[in-house]
Amino acid sequence: MANCVFCKIASGEIVSKIVYSDEIAVAFRDQNPQAPTHILFIPRKHVPSLSDLSSEDEAVLGHIVRVASQVAETEGVSESGYRLVANCGPNAGQSVDHVHFHLLGGRRFAWPPG
Ligand code: 5GP
Ligand code: ZN
Repeated sequence: MANCVFCKIASGEIVSKIVYSDEIAVAFRDQNPQAPTHILFIPRKHVPSLSDLSSEDEAVLGHIVRVASQVAETEGVSESGYRLVANCGPNAGQSVDHVHFHLLGGRRFAWPPG
């Protein structure tokens, strides 16, 4: 997708702190971290939001969740705990229209979220 910042990060056109990359997904550190560990997981395929996913994306999503749990382990937040969050649409505050999951860890989080 030509004008998508996350597609540009996935292709390397925009430089980011990549922590994981394969043919399906890319993970990189959020530029505005909200916790000691704040990593974004994206599919290489451009899908604007969770609302736009189709059945053919199921394997990609399963892959991303598994990779995120592995990265949580290497980041040292598995035992203390973490959040894996996807914001969808205006009420959730989605600001980049390319599906992404936030891995947040390293501190305690409130529930319900604000
Ligand atoms: P959302 O608000 O859509 O759930 O999350 C988008 C996230 O992407 C925000 O936490 C924001 O800081 C992050 N972000 C936006 N643009 C860039 C960028 O160019 N590089 C990096 N590393 N993170 C970005
Ligand atoms: Zn994109």
